[in-house]
Amino acid sequence: MNRQDFPILERLVHGHPLVYLDNAATTQKPQCVIDAISEEYVSVNANVHRGVHYLSQQATEFHESARHSVCRFINAHSPQEIVFTRGTTESLNLMAFSYGERFLSEGDEVILTQMEHHSNIVPWQMLRDRKGVVLRIAPIDERGTLKIEEVEKLFTPRTRLLSICHVSNVLGTVNPIRQLADMAHAHGAHLLVDAAQSVPHFPVDVQALDCDFLAFSGHKMYGPTGVGVLYGRESLLDAMPPYQGGGEMIARVTFEKTTYERLPFKFEAGTPDYVGTHALAVGIDYMKAIGMTRIHEYEKSLTDYAMQRLADLPGVILYGRTDDKDAVVSFNLAGIHHLDVGTLLDQLGIAIRTGHHCAQPLMERYGVEGMCRASFALYNTREEIDALADGILRVQRMF
Ligand code: PMP
Repeated sequence: MNRQDFPILERLVHGHPLVYLDNAATTQKPQCVIDAISEEYVSVNANVHRGVHYLSQQATEFHESARHSVCRFINAHSPQEIVFTRGTTESLNLMAFSYGERFLSEGDEVILTQMEHHSNIVPWQMLRDRKGVVLRIAPIDERGTLKIEEVEKLFTPRTRLLSICHVSNVLGTVNPIRQLADMAHAHGAHLLVDAAQSVPHFPVDVQALDCDFLAFSGHKMYGPTGVGVLYGRESLLDAMPPYQGGGEMIARVTFEKTTYERLPFKFEAGTPDYVGTHALAVGIDYMKAIGMTRIHEYEKSLTDYAMQRLADLPGVILYGRTDDKDAVVSFNLAGIHHLDVGTLLDQLGIAIRTGHHCAQPLMERYGVEGMCRASFALYNTREEIDALADGILRVQRMF
């Protein structure tokens, strides 16, 4: 779909047409997003907020209208619930710091799962070490499905938060967020969703999911690097203290006392990436013009096709065989190191990711050091998956 919108897909790598299958790490950018960045620097650039001059007001308008776009895109109640960050990682660190400061005390419990990315593990461990919060880890089964009944058993009167990925960046498992939200709320806890791998792929509606917080990254959804989002329920964000101090986040500063700006600005210290937020909104418009449901259906057909093609090859071990699986296919080749697979496929112009995928506890769960991962975006094709399958056969012949 729409390959012609992505100029990088025209290039050759090692003399071969690029087959880019590393979209879970970052997606390529359509021309409209690239143009939005350069056009803003060419004709609008000025620092946002409180500038009385024309350019500052125009840049502010771009930046704040991007917040409205994100709000509509995930169906938040209000743009005040949209905090711009550097990405999912910063959103989750903000949560561990600020939510942790306000809502978690020594002995309180946070539930994570075995399939989390390091960015939804390490900030909570840092908080545990600072405050004595207890982390409980929900298990998955061999196919990569979360054991829902085991999650339920982990809740205690001290559980304050369940923090979980919407889609696993390794297994592609789509977790039943609405069910988990109901479960968390029934136990008096909150739900934080790491949506880095869902927002780019299918419609995400925070009201329908009933989640309390949701984090995602612009660069995985055809937008620029360095900009991301934390959505939070207004009443909760309101109760949380700022995460960083500086310009933009204050109402009034004296040496004796500082009061903070209203939401969402109290969480946005310093000059924001206002060029990035504008380009992110252009990326969102781009996806909406195609249609998130259409993107989802198309990528789902690619995922099913890839699973089938790879399952038919001898010596391919597939990880993540859940019924509800999205845009990610991880595998190993029996007897061949994943790094060798990635390096040899690269020689054919095929870009996949290899290693632990920032999910070392999950690698441990499967008893492997690393995996190969092919991940899809709207511009990938069946022919590219065929190229991957042929490439795998060529790699196997070399050993
Ligand atoms: N969570 C998940 C599920 C991810 O896939 C990623 C990116 N690989 C992250 C968090 C971190 O995102 P970022 O590096 O954009 O902050």
